[in-house]
Amino acid sequence: MRINGETKIVGLIGYPIGHTLSPAMHNRAFEYLDLNYIYLPFPVEKNNLKGALRALPPLGIVGVNVTLPYKGKVLEYLDEVIEEAELTGAVNTILVKSDRLIGYNTDGEGFVTSLKKGTGIDPKGKRVVIIGAGGAARAVSIRLAKEEVEKITLTDIIFNKAQDLASHIEKHISKVETTALRGEELEKEIKETDILINATPLGMKPDDPLPIDPKLFHPNLLVYDLIYNPPKTKLLSEAEKIGAKTLNGRGMLLYQGALAFTIWTGREAPIEIMARALEEELRR
Ligand code: NAP
Repeated sequence: MRINGETKIVGLIGYPIGHTLSPAMHNRAFEYLDLNYIYLPFPVEKNNLKGALRALPPLGIVGVNVTLPYKGKVLEYLDEVIEEAELTGAVNTILVKSDRLIGYNTDGEGFVTSLKKGTGIDPKGKRVVIIGAGGAARAVSIRLAKEEVEKITLTDIIFNKAQDLASHIEKHISKVETTALRGEELEKEIKETDILINATPLGMKPDDPLPIDPKLFHPNLLVYDLIYNPPKTKLLSEAEKIGAKTLNGRGMLLYQGALAFTIWTGREAPIEIMARALEEELRR
């Protein structure tokens, strides 16, 4: 990688970000396409967030990704927010254009692209159950509603969170039936659903309990675990035993990055190259 007076800078704002996989993925793509860009980590502490964002235009920085804990917080400092990011209440990509900060959210579209590419399944007209109603579930469910799924059922250990998200979606994207369920009603819904998504962190650690009882699964189900490390969670292993299709969160991570790459550079992202960089980084 050559760095000279013409090198364009993109990066990641979050705190802490020592574990990030994004620099490896993006820098490999820049190298492959011979684009004079570099992707850098910017660990920004809470009190410096506003200052860091304000500094992007004068420093000539092209754009940044935003990660935890700032995906929601950055909204108040942006000049424009794309509708889907506004609805999600979170931004994961910022483009600096004519000194203005424009906020995007590529998580939901990254999820749907990975679903279509990874399984050939088009979510349109499908019934979906989402376990967990935090940030990731919000991005995913809003995008799925836009893709005109037939029904979205949400659940969360804090049931209010699922109810609030369901009413938010019904209010803003009224075409899609969205409900919050638990207990027997949820079990019944899972038996009839097409796609089940784990949007809780349960499964990241080896001794985590399962987020949902796999006895409810059926062979026509797709179980999508948003967790990308480990690649095969206990939930996915159980789903495989029943003969259900499975997918992990690596595709979502890849495609949300690929979409950000295109927002910044105007170029199609080299998916295979980025995927390989991601896998190598995860194996380290
Ligand atoms: P989050 O904001 O903490 O949301 C998770 C939600 O699930 C919380 O509301 C949590 O409740 C709830 N929950 C926990 N255990 C549950 C259970 N047994 N049943 C129902 N709900 C339960 O986390 P997030 O940022 O949305 O991330 C969720 C997962 O998605 C993480 O594993 C993350 O790594 C993954 N993710 C993947 C990608 C990707 O690109 N593949 C992107 C984003 C996130 P409490 O708050 O009470 O625990």
